[in-house]
Amino acid sequence: MNIPQSISFLSPEEIATREIAEPDTARLPNLASLFKDREIRLRQLAAGHSMRDFLIFMADLASAQHNALNDAALIKSQAQDSLVPGLELLQAHAKAGTPVLDPKHWALDPTWRRELDFILAQVLSHLPGEATVKGVIEEIKSMTQDQLNEQAQSLLLGQMGLVHMGAAPLIAAALQVFWVRLAARTAKAYPQQTFPAVADATHCPCCGSKPVSSINRLGSDVGTSRYLNCSLCQTQWYMARIKCTHCESTKGIAYHSLVNQEGHAVHVSAMDEGGVSLETCDTCSHYLKIVNMAKDVQVEPVADDLATLTLDLLIAEEGYWRGGVNFMMLFGGNAENSADPPKSIGEH
Ligand SMILES: [Zn+2]
Ligand SMILES: [Zn+2]
Repeated sequence: MNIPQSISFLSPEEIATREIAEPDTARLPNLASLFKDREIRLRQLAAGHSMRDFLIFMADLASAQHNALNDAALIKSQAQDSLVPGLELLQAHAKAGTPVLDPKHWALDPTWRRELDFILAQVLSHLPGEATVKGVIEEIKSMTQDQLNEQAQSLLLGQMGLVHMGAAPLIAAALQVFWVRLAARTAKAYPQQTFPAVADATHCPCCGSKPVSSINRLGSDVGTSRYLNCSLCQTQWYMARIKCTHCESTKGIAYHSLVNQEGHAVHVSAMDEGGVSLETCDTCSHYLKIVNMAKDVQVEPVADDLATLTLDLLIAEEGYWRGGVNFMMLFGGNAENSADPPKSIGEH
């Protein structure tokens, strides 16, 4: 890989921003298209990519998530067997400014295992005979319910030191489906009680998780607005641009992007030169990626994050730490305090 020695910085003044006047606080995903769009984008990005096999596997996993999320039997069993929060609990959290479906206080329902079994069966059916991930799937299948719940809890609470790194994307895929449906059921049960903004704008207003990346969405009238994409329930929530998504500082924010020209990695000095860029903060030394629909309408927050590992490598050399979390490609350390180096980068 051709890694330049430095990354050029843009001043915030150079970034043309036209915010929509009253953006939605939280946008819940479309259940019919969420994982389908991710799968399509992953296959598109995989073509000619140096991480092609990994991206194809992730596309197959997203396909399994789509099928699980829209499976009539799984929808029915979750509706029958697992709870949604009551009105009093929703109101108490709204008053306190805390996310109601945060795994720190919303107990993990053991029926998430049904999503996992469904996804493992679907992924297995796509794997070639010699695939090493088959061994990981066998390992997951041999875990007891308690062991599986411990793995799930470690992932949900950001205790990455306890996580089985090979199994994590598969376990997280099931948890994502479970939480996406839980959020949708809650919103449907209380249509007047959407998930209001919470006190900590850097975490999901629905489930309290960190963002995976942010997306500049095209508005219905003019300009774009920036939303953070939840790593767990996939809700997108609004955050003003030129503001750190880790510490909320508005000072020391800079942007970096990268384009490939004739096989060479080249830094460019305009934020909109590529569909994906990085927003860094000199106050806390963290960064988050921004995928830009104005540049490429097909960008997808998880898929484009996975396909731009080069940006993570480059910015790590500049001394910045990843502020978000992508369960499909975990970095080392504690997700709640990601001041540890990315030690497991690209291992899956
Ligand atoms: Zn969430
Ligand atoms: Zn910061």
